[in-house]
Amino acid sequence: MDALKNQPEFELRNVRGTLVGFRCPAYAGNVNVPGYHLHFITEDRKAGGHVLELQTDTVTARMEGVHEFHMVLPHNKSFYHSDLTKGKKAELEKVEKAGGTGSR
Ligand SMILES: [Zn+2]
Repeated sequence: MDALKNQPEFELRNVRGTLVGFRCPAYAGNVNVPGYHLHFITEDRKAGGHVLELQTDTVTARMEGVHEFHMVLPHNKSFYHSDLTKGKKAELEKVEKAGGTGSR
């Protein structure tokens, strides 16, 4: 989580590109942030990142149901000693909203 706290946040206007993301169901809230998680990359591939907010004009949307996922767990002492019995939703949402994880 600390790695996400100092990520740059910026605004792109009047750009074309691609959004890719997923919607995490509420029942998976202990391992991810429930709701939509989108990343954007500009058409010229020079800017993009995690999306905090967006407005669009015309879009073409494609959706696919995913019924399984593969999760890789950290293999370190810190992870093994973490208390994962409490939900991380509030902590994850705080980082997502405060951080903005894009890059140019
Ligand atoms: Zn993201």
